[in-house]
Amino acid sequence: MRRALPFFGLFGAALLLPLFSNDYWAVIGARAAVYWILVGGLNLVVGYGGQLAIGYVALLTLGAYTSAVLVAKFGVDPFVSYGAAGLVGAVAGVVVGLPALRLRTFYFAMTTLGFATIVTQVALAWQSVTGGGIGIGGPELPKPFDSPWGFYLFALALAAFVTWLSSNVAQSRFGRALVAVRDAEVAAEAVGISKPHLLTTVFLFAGACAGVAGGLFATLQSYITPEAFSFDLSVTFFIAILVGGRGSILGPLIGNIILTLLPEFAAPLVAWSTFLYAALLLGIVLAMPGGIAAMIDFKNRRPLASNRAILPNPALISGHGTARGDIVLKNVVLAFGGVRAIDGLDMTIRPGEVHGLIGPNGSGKTTTLNVISGYYAPQEGEAFLGASPLPHGAPRARAALGIARTFQTPRLIGEASVLENVMIGATIEGNASFVESVFSLPRHHRDEKHLTAKAMQALATVGLERLAEVRADRLQHSELRFMEIARALILNPAFILLDEPAAGLSGDEIKRLGELIKAMAAQGIGVLLVEHHADLIFDICDHVTVLNLGKELASGSPADIRAHKEVVSAYLGG
Ligand code: ADP
Ligand code: MG
Repeated sequence: MRRALPFFGLFGAALLLPLFSNDYWAVIGARAAVYWILVGGLNLVVGYGGQLAIGYVALLTLGAYTSAVLVAKFGVDPFVSYGAAGLVGAVAGVVVGLPALRLRTFYFAMTTLGFATIVTQVALAWQSVTGGGIGIGGPELPKPFDSPWGFYLFALALAAFVTWLSSNVAQSRFGRALVAVRDAEVAAEAVGISKPHLLTTVFLFAGACAGVAGGLFATLQSYITPEAFSFDLSVTFFIAILVGGRGSILGPLIGNIILTLLPEFAAPLVAWSTFLYAALLLGIVLAMPGGIAAMIDFKNRRPLASNRAILPNPALISGHGTARGDIVLKNVVLAFGGVRAIDGLDMTIRPGEVHGLIGPNGSGKTTTLNVISGYYAPQEGEAFLGASPLPHGAPRARAALGIARTFQTPRLIGEASVLENVMIGATIEGNASFVESVFSLPRHHRDEKHLTAKAMQALATVGLERLAEVRADRLQHSELRFMEIARALILNPAFILLDEPAAGLSGDEIKRLGELIKAMAAQGIGVLLVEHHADLIFDICDHVTVLNLGKELASGSPADIRAHKEVVSAYLGG
């Protein structure tokens, strides 16, 4: 609730505006509201999803012409025409967005710009419908919305509605998944998040917002020509989000208000407006890379205790997925070019056991883990779960099979809280659909309650519950390693694959980690432990495989390995 206070404050101030200003400000205010209806949706794409959609003015254009043409040529009710504009916007949003599934960063940005150019050119050329360069009248609303303040209040209500919708998305598993795709795509895949589904859904939503904004824009302008939809406008939307800060709603909302008002105060400098925007952007990005959102994030400026110890509570590990059998590698071969990273490996990981995988750097440990978790398809041989082969090249499918993992370099979402980072691990457990989350329906609340409770339990298990609300990028390296383990445990996995979890940990921390891993196995989880620390391996493993140049050098109980001549001379340095 406290998070909503600033929004109510802004809304209250906006409601009071008519009491002490003139009609001119009604138009400016309505413009800010209409822009926000677009920017609020776009924020999910750009600020949360990290997709550089800079040509969103195209959707505003489409929405505006849909609305204007339907009303002017077909006599459709203006409110109905807004709905139609939303539908057109949703479809076009997906069309504009689809390249994002293949193209990254500025390549995608260019396609959105290209789309904007095409839409403008079509609007210009298709004279019989759009009026071409001469333009077309925008829809006129009936009383009481036909006055400047009437329209202002109508647009304000819709803007508030979009704020509510988009913050519902942001605070759902969909919003967290978007940020995960933005900051840690590989980890997102490993927990079962489908980027194509997720982005398509969000493009639909953002497109619909932009389409409706277009319809309102046509009314606001009362007359539209293709020139009204300039590239500058598109850049303004984008900059509002950058200035506001990624992964925030309040920040971009304030950014949007500032950027709408700026030209009014800088009217004498109108020739300089592009320069002013650029200077503002540069200033904010240099002074405060996190934008307005970081500036007002007071909670995360409080210093953290400096001597905080991680005290896991292994007894809290409870429940785990039932394994569908052992994980079995049969004669797996995987070569990168000429390097045979894995060269005919056989291995069996059993539920309830800790299986250590050791070997010198470059011996193929991480590659083995990546084959099991689906990132690489073996060129020969096969990985099985029980009797069925694990699907190749489908890391996303592993979470549903109960296989969770951590990474040699922690993959975190730095700008999200520790709690959110862990909740991402159980994204596939949510039941509420996107629509249920957008409208904050009961199933969405049950999901959130369930996932929050599970994440807190997982954090308590690894000993990080006191840091739940802290931004993940403020954590120490060792804490991040435990956070990743919590993200894997929240799934109640049948198997957990740990890639050098003890790297960078202190002696005490390694001991506690060992107890935690032993407790996982005692609960029935099958653990694959890739490690460098021989002590830890020999302390807690039931079975050890030693790799060298992608081949098994030795395999057996810790005692067998310790007695193995070649291993001792080549690897243990004894
Ligand atoms: P480890 O984890 O045991 O240190 P890796 O499995 O990371 O070793 O690497 C095994 C070998 O495969 C190394 O020679 C490494 O250079 C090579 N390798 C790993 N991943 C790739 C890749 N994506 N492309 C090319 N070579 C790779
Ligand atoms: Mg490795």
